[in-house]
Amino acid sequence: MMTINKSVGKDLIFPLTLLKRRPEKIHHVNKEVSLDGLEISTARVPEGRVGLDLTVELSREEVLVAGKVVASWSAECRRCVEEISGQLELSISEIFLSVNQFKDEVNFNVEDAFPFKEIDGEEAIDLEEVVRDSILLALPFSPLCSEECQGPDPQRFPTQANTEKKDFEKDPRWAVLDQLKFDKDNSA
Ligand SMILES: [Zn+2]
Repeated sequence: MMTINKSVGKDLIFPLTLLKRRPEKIHHVNKEVSLDGLEISTARVPEGRVGLDLTVELSREEVLVAGKVVASWSAECRRCVEEISGQLELSISEIFLSVNQFKDEVNFNVEDAFPFKEIDGEEAIDLEEVVRDSILLALPFSPLCSEECQGPDPQRFPTQANTEKKDFEKDPRWAVLDQLKFDKDNSA
């Protein structure tokens, strides 16, 4: 049965049998993809567009993935809320292992490795997870337009104190106190 997957992330799935069938030992992945959810609280990759220049190398028991991941990001300055942007160029080097190797306690590679996925009954590597993890870790967590940023323009962003004062004036309990004060003043 055919399933329709909207994410082009499926282009990043490589069944092991396919990799084994290829005559060359190293497979090159050189393309641009668009992945969902490439954002953290303050920063995002516009349209999830990521450029990949990776090699996928199958050795006996593992698959090595290495190369470059590039993406633009945009975010809001945490002080002045101005839009800022930048570029990520990440060097990655990751290992995929079979699920069985994760059960093997003496395997020291396991901690940082990614497991093979089982897709349609076949072992496969899914590069989407690798790409997503590296981008999410590299996005600026608390971006600034510049170290000297003075924060919001007070004309455009009224301070919290002003808002609180307004609420104070509207509070009915204060109206009652005003009334009492008024009566007292009258009787004096
Ligand atoms: Zn700023």
